[in-house]
Amino acid sequence: MSILMMKFGGTSVGTPAAMAQAGEIVSREAKNWDHVVVVVSALSGVTDMLIAGARSAETGNKERYQEIADTIRTRHREMAAKLITDPAEREALERTIDSYLSEFSRLCESVYVLRELTPRVLDGIVSFGERLSARLLAAFLREQGLRSEAVDATELIVTDGTFQNAVPLVDPTRARVADRLGPSLKKGVVPVVTGFIGATEDGIPTTLGRGGSDYTAAILGEMLDSDAVWIFTDVDGVMTADPRIVPDAHVIPDISYAEVGELAYFGAKVLHPRAIRPVIDRGIPVWVKNTFNPDAPGTRIVRSPQNTDGTVKAVTMIDDLTMINVRGRGMIGVPGIAGRTFSAVARANANVLMISQASSEQSICFAVPTESAPAVVASLEEELAHELARRDIDSIWAQNDLVIITAVGAGVRDTPGVDGRIFSALGKARINVLAIAQGSSECSVSLVVEATDGIAAVRQIHKEVINNGK
Ligand code: ASP
Ligand code: MG
Repeated sequence: MSILMMKFGGTSVGTPAAMAQAGEIVSREAKNWDHVVVVVSALSGVTDMLIAGARSAETGNKERYQEIADTIRTRHREMAAKLITDPAEREALERTIDSYLSEFSRLCESVYVLRELTPRVLDGIVSFGERLSARLLAAFLREQGLRSEAVDATELIVTDGTFQNAVPLVDPTRARVADRLGPSLKKGVVPVVTGFIGATEDGIPTTLGRGGSDYTAAILGEMLDSDAVWIFTDVDGVMTADPRIVPDAHVIPDISYAEVGELAYFGAKVLHPRAIRPVIDRGIPVWVKNTFNPDAPGTRIVRSPQNTDGTVKAVTMIDDLTMINVRGRGMIGVPGIAGRTFSAVARANANVLMISQASSEQSICFAVPTESAPAVVASLEEELAHELARRDIDSIWAQNDLVIITAVGAGVRDTPGVDGRIFSALGKARINVLAIAQGSSECSVSLVVEATDGIAAVRQIHKEVINNGK
């Protein structure tokens, strides 16, 4: 028995034409597999608008959230008008759209009265985006002659109560998925499940964090033991580099879970590492495909890709970074300096992107977003005041206007000489490397260079290492 899990992102359902295209893809695959399950995001931009509505209610701007409710209602109604011809079906859909939007307005109204927006209420408010899109897509699939029903993931995904960033609870979710989806699938129904949302054990709506629909698809894919998870978006797959920087960037046909995780961490807009975690143990392949070019093969993500097609697969850049250096002879052999350094960084709420410590132990340096650098330096000066006064630490200083360039590929670890090729590529272009670190999963190497060299560095690595000088 074959099961395909398909997920459509916001742009894949954002216009009537896009939704029609998504619907055709589902209809086609429904013939190729025993069962298909669909997960859908809110129409593009709708989640942002719902959040903006809730926030405007909080600040006492009634007109704004009413305007937002109208805009969202009109957009969904127009879509229904374009896609659904059956009058009964269309009327029912319009009633659903209207009732969800009045509920949205009522929730905003209570936020407006209280002038307080809790994360719990916000999750209730944003859940309407996916609830609306799932109804639309299911109705369209019925219009195409499929048996289909919209399913709210509040009935499937049981989470803890961390509103805005809820953690799914595996056992209760597994039980609900089997109870709720099992019988539908047996009847030949194509469920269209809302991405992004879940509910606590008591049924209070939660969300899994922004962009959480991929995560929903992977959770359901794992729980239904699906044969594959196809993530539909608006690009042809995971790219070797950002095409705005590297015009001849191309789609990576095969990549591993670890590599894709590293890519996301280092700034490429691909799957969030958390999103694919559920499928990794079972080794379920995940594909990234283009709704608007469905015949292109896309990118396949598996545990160990056979196709090792070049040892470095992609190169990314994160900008607006600052390197913080903690330096001093008195640090040699003194335990605890690194620990205290990073506790101080954590107290400043800064995200450390890369760490590098020279083996002589005379300095620790790490990169943080420039916006958090002043707070980090202040926190370090306070924590290490004693060592600074005694001159065990000579200086704590920050260097701005830097970027991190990361080359990702299992080859970075396995193949001798890859690092050398990266450095000679940069050397050829006379680009100075300020610091180096190996990624945690050992399938990436990150380099810090000056911001003015960033684009050239990405292009050089792409040309010399990924494309082998071609
Ligand atoms: N609609 C949600 C968001 O915009 C979830 C998603 O798109 O995956 O974050
Ligand atoms: Mg999205």
